[in-house]
Formats: sequence, structure tokens, C-alpha cells
Amino acid sequence: MSSQGHSKEGHNPSASLVLHVDVLLLSVLGAFTLFSLPRAVVRLTRLSEWTRGLFLYSRATKTSATPSRVASNDGGSEKKSNVSVRAVDASASTLEAGSPSSGTPQRHMSSWSSAFPGLSWLLGMQVRQGYSIGRLLLIYAYIGVILYAGLLDSNPFTKPARAGLVTVSQVPLVVVLATKNNIVGALVGQGYERLNYLHRAVGRLVILAINTHAIGLLYEFVSAGRWRVVVTVPHLQWGLVALVCMDVLFLLSISTFREMFYHVFYVTHVIASILMMAAACMHSPQARPYVFAAVGIYGLDRILRVVKTRVAPAHLRAIPELGMARIEIPHINAGWRAGQHLRLKVLSLGMGVWGWAEPHPFTIASVSENPSGEGLVLMCKKAGDWTGKLYALAQRGSDGEAAKGKEVTVLLDGPYGGPGNTVITSFSGAMIIAGGSGITYALSTVEELLEMRAAGSSSARVVELVWSVRGPSSLFPMVPLFSRFLERARSSGVALQISVFYTRAQADDLMRSLQALPDGLDLAPGRPPLERLLLGVVDRTSAVCGELQEKPSGVLVGACGPTPLTEHAGNAVRTFDRQKFKSVGGVELQEE
Ligand SMILES: Cc1cc2nc3c(=O)[nH]c(=O)nc-3n(C[C@H](O)[C@H](O)[C@H](O)COP(=O)(O)OP(=O)(O)OC[C@H]3O[C@@H](n4cnc5c(N)ncnc54)[C@H](O)[C@@H]3O)c2cc1C
Repeated sequence: MSSQGHSKEGHNPSASLVLHVDVLLLSVLGAFTLFSLPRAVVRLTRLSEWTRGLFLYSRATKTSATPSRVASNDGGSEKKSNVSVRAVDASASTLEAGSPSSGTPQRHMSSWSSAFPGLSWLLGMQVRQGYSIGRLLLIYAYIGVILYAGLLDSNPFTKPARAGLVTVSQVPLVVVLATKNNIVGALVGQGYERLNYLHRAVGRLVILAINTHAIGLLYEFVSAGRWRVVVTVPHLQWGLVALVCMDVLFLLSISTFREMFYHVFYVTHVIASILMMAAACMHSPQARPYVFAAVGIYGLDRILRVVKTRVAPAHLRAIPELGMARIEIPHINAGWRAGQHLRLKVLSLGMGVWGWAEPHPFTIASVSENPSGEGLVLMCKKAGDWTGKLYALAQRGSDGEAAKGKEVTVLLDGPYGGPGNTVITSFSGAMIIAGGSGITYALSTVEELLEMRAAGSSSARVVELVWSVRGPSSLFPMVPLFSRFLERARSSGVALQISVFYTRAQADDLMRSLQALPDGLDLAPGRPPLERLLLGVVDRTSAVCGELQEKPSGVLVGACGPTPLTEHAGNAVRTFDRQKFKSVGGVELQEE
């Protein structure tokens, strides 16, 4: 960024233009905030909602003498089946009966997608993985605005300063979209992870802008035969540093690299971003206000993350059938909403020399203030190196300390993400779909619907949990918990159905041992027929509400798991019969 473009009075039209573009982007954010306001207002009329989902804490709860929520098996298949069936019987006999108490359910506010299903169908259509028409429209509109800012009355090759200004003017936006305590997300009622696609899109445009700026300047200096100044003049040297940082950021963010070496990606991302911002300040004073804004946003996020961090003892157990390590943290039992996740560090040398310092995200698998006394529960599937070490550690614990599991100390940073302004308990019906380890999301969501119903604070009358797994043996360790859910549903007046679908058949003796499943829990081969299941949930919800002479307040479809499954869920919602859609009060999709 040189002094080009300054008028005689010292006024810089390029600087004004990029500032106006930022004001325009803020106005767009304001418009989205206004759209989300009705739901936010309805949610926040309940005072407890102001703090729910912000900080983890411990609270005295009335615990019931329930057995372990998940059976841990330690023998062959025959023994496994005994464990499960015993656990089912035990759970059925120890649960307290009772009808919903006298709390009041939160008012339901329909989403825009329920109010305009046709438009929502169009905008929700997937063009490529993770990118719907709606998302692409937003990205293209943003590209249009940035090109306007970069090209209006300017040529990137003869006036490269403009591209430099465009670059720095977008830095606060890239940073805010990357934060976990996301102000944009809070305003539009979305978890930070749902805005990640925007962080990537804005980031790529910033990379394009800084490279355009650099090429323009180099062209200018080289064509004037002054290329040496680039490496000898300090502010240009800093410009080069910023350019290299940005290009490193870009190259190490490419999805193949990111997926293979997540922690290298993460560490370089943070270091290169900080260095880039410092270098930009040294390169041009015009960058400073934008960099200071970005530093403020990032600093606030880091402070909040420290404030949100908790260290607590935990019990670690292996669940061989699921290939998962289960972590119970009894001392932290409140403060999250169903569907939220946290970043976990396991402070044990068993995790390797660096492994204890690595944070990994996991969805909380239990309901806040759950009556089982287990507190916060995480279920972590063996997916790679770190989770493999966690599982090995859990297995070591299961040998000697089988009842409670291995004692470890964990560091939790969260909760983050979650349903935003959607109040899941305000729907009359819910179909919660999970694939594989996505069950963690489903468990906390279904449990929240049941517990809130038992407390009289949920409208949910009909709930269906659909779980797609590889083999039927995955169901074994979950039978006690599912039985407890079914019992809880019966005592609180919720029609709960749990349908487990497996794609790989297993030995006959194993299948026989799974025949003694409790009422309401089904096991079937194949992929879940989501369209048919959704129709069933909607019909049952309409029927139950009709019997009770209640106006149905819609059906929530929550989906978490592999992309084909969540896309299938999205299609099932989008292609759902319009008449039934209207009569049940709308069908709303929530993808995790
Ligand atoms: C919001 C969220 C919630 C999740 N909830 C659960 C859950 O409840 N249960 C469960 O079993 N798994 C969950 N996962 C997945 C889990 O975080 C990864 O499987 C785990 O971090 C893999 O680490 P690894 O080193 O063992 O495997 P790797 O082989 O290193 O990674 C496997 C995959 O996980 C990604 N990954 C690795 N580390 C991280 C990280 N720190 N942050 C984000 N992605 C990473 C990699 O990009 C790669 O695609 C969740 C992921 C996210 C983003």
C-alpha cells in the first residue's frame, strides 16, 4: 500500500471505499441479525436461556439410582449378550415412575424455513458437499462486493495499493469468523462451526487480494528497474513477510493437508496469522486500525476461552463394540445445551509426549444436570493417532478399575456451537438421526427432550431416534441407556421409538441374543428409510396433538454423522409432503 490515490487534501478515496464496503458488510450482518431476532427474543424471554450453553459448572442435582448408562463388555460375544440383557432388566426395575411436573414449555417460534418451505427447499439444495445454493449465493455476493471494492476506478496493475487496502480491510472479518466465541454467530443465532465455510471463503479472497497487491507492486518496481528496493526498504520487506505468511496459511489449509496433519495446520494457522498481522502493521500505517480490530476480536476470544476452561478428574472406559473411549466427568454436570461440543485435553503421559497438550473437539453425549450422576459424558471414537492413544489408555484402565474406569485428569474448553436460537424442546415432535459416532449428538438431544418433558418444560410428544451403524453389535453397549430412555419416555408421556439400522450382518448367535430388546427399540438391516420414518413421525405427532386438542408446533429433524446420511436427511425434509408439512406446523432441519 503506497500513497497512491491520495487527493491533494490528504483524503484517500480508496481508504474510504474499503471502509464503506465494511460498513455495507456490517449492514448485511445487521439484516441477518434482524431476521434471527424474533427467535432470539422468544428464546431469551426465559432468563435461564441467557446463560445456558455458555459455561460449564457443577450443580447439586437429584440423582436417581440408575445403573451404568452404557454396558462395558469384557468377554466374548456370548458373555456380551448376557451383560446387555442383565443391564436392560436392571434399568427397568430401578427407574422411578411419574408424570410430567408443572414447568411450562418454551413458546415455539417457527423458523423462516418453515414459513417459506419453497424458498428454503431451493436455497437448501446441495450443489457440492457442504455448499447449498443459499451458501453459494452468499459467497458470490461477497465476491461481487470485494471485486467492486478492488476494481472501481482502479487497475490492480497500475494502482496495486487498492488491493492491499482491500486485504487489510477484510482481516477483522476473517478473524471474527474463525473465533469459537463467535460474535457473528451469536448475532445470527448459529454456532461458530456453521460459519466456517464463510471463514474459508473470505480467507481465500484475502489471499487473492494480497497476491494481486504484491504482483502489482513487483510489476511496478521491476518495470521501473527498481526491483532491489523490494528487499532493501524495510516497509516493503515487512510486506513480503505478510505475503509469505498469507501464502503459507493458504497452502497449509488445503483440505487434504488439513485432514492429514490437523495440528500442523492449526499451529501454523495461528502463528502465521499473528505474524502476518504484525507485518501488515509494519508495512503500512493504513493497516493498523483493521489489525487492531482483529487483534481485539481474537484477544477477546482467547480470554473467553481461558475463562471457559475447566480442569476436572474423569473416568475413562473402553467400549470395544463401538471402538470408543467413554469419558465421564462427574464433577462437571451443568451448563451446556444438547448438541454442543467442547475441546478436550487428556492430561496424561499415556497420551504421548505431546498428546496431553493436544485439544480435540467432542460433542457432549449427556444432558446437562442429568439425574444419573455421571455428569458430563463424552464418547470418543478411535479415528486416528490421538483417539487411538485415548482408547488404548481406556483399555488399560478397564483391566484393573473396570467399575469406574481409569482415573485421568481432563481439561475442557467449552461449550461451543449447538442449536443457536433453535429451542429443540419447543417442537411437538422430533426425529433425531445419527450415523456412527454422531450418536453423541443424538444422545444428548433425546435425553434433553425427555428430561425437559419430565420437568414439564418441553412440548415434545413424539420422538424417534434413528441410528445407523455398521454392525448390530454396536447396539449391545447402548441397550441399558436406550432402555432407560424408553422408561423415562413412558413415565413422562413421550412416545419414543429407537430404530437402529445396520449395514453389515453378523453371526447368527449374536443376532439371536439381540432378539430380547425392550419395546420401542428396533434393530433392522439396511440403510434407514428416512422419508418413510419422517412421515411416520409427522403422522404420529399430528395424531397425538389432535387427540390432546393441541396445535402441533412442528417437527425437528436433527442429523449428525457422515455427509451422505445428513444429506439424505436434508433431502427427506426438503421433499416432504407440503400438506402434512403445514398441518404439523413445519418440519425443520438441524444439521450438526
Ligand atoms: C465439532 C466436532 C464434534 C465432534 N464430536 C465427536 C464426538 O462426539 N465423538 C467422536 O468420536 N468424534 C467427534 N468428532 C471427531 C473428532 O474430533 C476427531 O475424530 C478427532 O479429533 C480425531 O483425532 P485423531 O488425531 O485421533 O485423528 P486424525 O487422524 O488426526 O484425524 C481424523 C480426522 O479428524 C480431524 N481432526 C483431527 N484433530 C482435530 C481437531 N483438533 N479439531 C477438529 N478436527 C480434527 C482431522 O482433520 C481428520 O479429518 C468431532 C469433531 C468435531 C469437529
